[in-house]
Amino acid sequence: MARIEELGTNAPDQGGSVPSLPDEGKADLHLHTTYSDGVHSPYDLLKKARGAGLSTVAITDHDHVGAIEEATGWGAKLGITVLPGVELSITLGGKDLHLLAYLFDCTNPMLLEYLAFFRGERLKRAERMVRKLNNINVPLKLDTVLEQAGIGAVGRPHIANALVEEGLVESFHEAFQRFIGTGGPAYETKFQLTPQEAFRLITQAGGLSFLAHPGRYLSEQELLLLIKQGLDGIEVVHPSHSDLQQKYYRGIVNQYFLLECGGSDYHGGKKNDDHVFGTYTVPLHVVETMRSRLFS
Ligand code: AMP
Ligand code: ZN
Ligand code: FE
Ligand code: FE
Repeated sequence: MARIEELGTNAPDQGGSVPSLPDEGKADLHLHTTYSDGVHSPYDLLKKARGAGLSTVAITDHDHVGAIEEATGWGAKLGITVLPGVELSITLGGKDLHLLAYLFDCTNPMLLEYLAFFRGERLKRAERMVRKLNNINVPLKLDTVLEQAGIGAVGRPHIANALVEEGLVESFHEAFQRFIGTGGPAYETKFQLTPQEAFRLITQAGGLSFLAHPGRYLSEQELLLLIKQGLDGIEVVHPSHSDLQQKYYRGIVNQYFLLECGGSDYHGGKKNDDHVFGTYTVPLHVVETMRSRLFS
């Protein structure tokens, strides 16, 4: 068999130009809808995806898979493949981390039961945060938060929007800065699984687990611990990652035979992130590699 370095010299003469591979399409594997703290319905998001030329998307709402069936139906009409996804919160040595899960069975009873439990805990946490705000003379009403959340898993972005809505802060950013940012005076922790519990939950539902937007938060030791415990991959492409961080995490992925994923973490609306839509993507072979890890 020809060695790889010989192939160039034996290849037919093509007039010096390297033949280009067909455009395989691009995927955004990190998107939020109204089922969590995104502002767009599954239909609106899918329309935006078509406008941006995406051929595959994963909807990754926090603790909710409610958008997926609806999005898959719209996707079939619009020519976009929709992968099952969800974003979970885990804790590692006091650090709050996010996990992205993909390609699981959306009807898995244990997964659905856990997600419903997490959403219930989110609601209790929102109540505690509103109480904390009231105790420091910020008269936010829980009803305003619940209106903001609508059908979605309630989270801090809804509290921030409610604070703006009631005129208690000037901006979304100020809400986090003054009150509800991590460690702030009205901050409350969420119920979180350990990494091992989360990996088990996702595995029993037939899915793969990825560390979401690790950014600067993790030491290599912590990363290695997660890999040992069953992490399948890392989100390499994310708006919060510098080129250097992308290179670093792609290096870790290759070194430890992990999978890669990536996307825009698009929420829409007030977070003013429209410019990222369609620009943080991964090539489709990334998705094929995920599938082959599961189904080969
Ligand atoms: P939660 O899951 O309820 O703790 O909300 C976390 C979400 O709040 C994240 O996914 C971000 O979208 C948003 N968030 C967290 N910290 C900030 C911050 N400092 N400024 C703006 N948004 C933030
Ligand atoms: Zn979010
Ligand atoms: Fe996240
Ligand atoms: Fe996200």
